[in-house]
Amino acid sequence: MNDRFDDDRPREECGVLAIHGHPEAAALAALGLHALQHRGQEAAGIVTFDGAHFHAHRAIGLVGDNFGKDSVVAGLPGHAAVGHTRYSTTGASMLRNVQPLFAELSFGGLAIAHNGNLTNGLTLRRRLVREGCIFQSTTDTEVIVHLVAKSREPTPVERLVDALAQVEGAWSLVALFDDAVVAARDPLGVRPLVLGELGGVPVVASETCAFDILGARFVRDIEPGEVLVADAGGLRSLRPFPPRRPRFCIFEYVYFSRPDSYVDGRSVYEARKRIGIELAREAPAEADIVVPVPDSGVPAAIGYAHESGLPFELGIIRNHYVGRTFIEPSDRIRHLGVRLKHNANRGVLEGRRVVLVDDSIVRGTTSTKIVAMVRQAGAREVHMRIASPPTTHSCFYGVDTPERDQLLAARHGVEEMARLIGVDSLAFLSLDGLYRAVGEPGRHALRPAFCDACFSGDYPIRLTDVEGGERDCQLSLLLGEA
Ligand code: SF4
Repeated sequence: MNDRFDDDRPREECGVLAIHGHPEAAALAALGLHALQHRGQEAAGIVTFDGAHFHAHRAIGLVGDNFGKDSVVAGLPGHAAVGHTRYSTTGASMLRNVQPLFAELSFGGLAIAHNGNLTNGLTLRRRLVREGCIFQSTTDTEVIVHLVAKSREPTPVERLVDALAQVEGAWSLVALFDDAVVAARDPLGVRPLVLGELGGVPVVASETCAFDILGARFVRDIEPGEVLVADAGGLRSLRPFPPRRPRFCIFEYVYFSRPDSYVDGRSVYEARKRIGIELAREAPAEADIVVPVPDSGVPAAIGYAHESGLPFELGIIRNHYVGRTFIEPSDRIRHLGVRLKHNANRGVLEGRRVVLVDDSIVRGTTSTKIVAMVRQAGAREVHMRIASPPTTHSCFYGVDTPERDQLLAARHGVEEMARLIGVDSLAFLSLDGLYRAVGEPGRHALRPAFCDACFSGDYPIRLTDVEGGERDCQLSLLLGEA
C-alpha cells in the first residue's frame, strides 16, 4: 500500500516507543506514536502488559485512525506498553506483519517492535526454518523472536541479548516481557533511539518529538550497543556487545527525522538549515528567488536563502489532506501524480529565475514532474539544488530505497541528470559539505563518523544476505512454501 504520489522518496522507516510503570501506558504510547507517524504510515500497533495478561491492538492505517477511540485504548490496560508505527522495509504490508510482534514463549510473553533491517535476516530465517521453526510473518523481526525462543540463557533479558548477538544490521528495538521493558540499539547506532522521563517513569522513542507531545523530558540518546532494562528494580544499562565506532545514519538529518527532533545530540532543523547554507556556498545560482519542494526541502531552502541573500518564497504549496482512501483506488487519476500533492504558486513563480531546493533525488520521476509544473507556472529559469549528495547506492539498513539500477544518480552524471529532469542547472551538496553541516570538519575517508553508504557505497555493516544471494531468494522458498 504505497503512497503512489510520493513514490520517488526514500521511504520512512519505522517508529518505536516504550513506556514502563505508568497507569496510562497505552494512551501515552498512542500519543507518542502519533508524533512518530512520519516514520511509517502503513500500520500501527500497541501491546501492553497488566501484570497478568498481555493485550494487543494492531491494525493497518494511521495511528489516529486506529487508536483515536477511547474503547480501543481502554482495551489495552497495564502499566507497560510497547508500540510501533510501520513502513515495511521487509515483509509485505499485511496484518500479520504489523508490529509489535507477540509470542508466548517458555518463560512467558514477548512483544517486540523494531526499526531497522537485519542484513543477515534471510540467512538466519533459512537456518531457523531448517531447524523446525514455523514463521507467522515475513518480517525480519520475527527472526529475533525465534532466536530468543531457542536461546539457552537463563533469563528473558539474557535470551534477548543472546539473540541480538547473532543478528547483523541496524536494529533500534523495544521489547516487553512479563516483568520488564527493554530498549536496545545496534552497536553502530545506525537508527536513532532516545530515552525520556515522564513523572519519574522511563519512556523510550525513536525521536524526541514523541516526548514533546507527552510532556516528557529528554534524558539522553540510548548509546550504540546499549541494552536498557526497565523493571521493578528501576532502570539499568547493559553493554553486552564489544564497542565499535558509531555510524549513525546521516540521512536522518537530511530527510527522515522530524525537524523538531533532536537526534544523536543534534537539532534536525538546525542541521537542515546548515545543509542549505553549505549548499549555497558550494553551488550558488544567478536567480531571483529560492523555493523549497515542501515539506522536507523547507529548512534547507531557508538556509540557502539566508546564505545567498535571495528571497525565500513558497512557490509550491503542498496539500496535506491527500489521504490514502482517495489515492488507493484511483488508477484513473494516477497520471495527475505530484499535482495532487503539490501545486505551483503562479503569482510567485511567473517570470522568475528560481532556485528549487529539494532533499534528494531517487529515481528522478517526482523531480521531473515538479520541474515541469514550475515551468508551466511561468518560471523563466529553474536551478535545482539538492540538499544531499547523489544517491548512488541502495540502503540495506531499514530505509526502503529502490534497487541500484533504479537510482538516477547511479546511471547518470549530473549534467545528464539535469537534462533528464529538465532544469537549467543542477547541483548536489558534497559529502564533505553534508558532514560540515552536521558539525564534522568533513568526511574522514578511513574513519567516517556516519553511515553514508547510499552516497558513498561504503557499507559499515556486512551485507550477508546480499553477498550470500539470500536477498534474491523468494521468501516463499525460504518458508518452504514452494
Ligand atoms: Fe542512512 Fe543511507 Fe546508511 Fe541507509 S545507507 S542507513 S539511508 S546513510
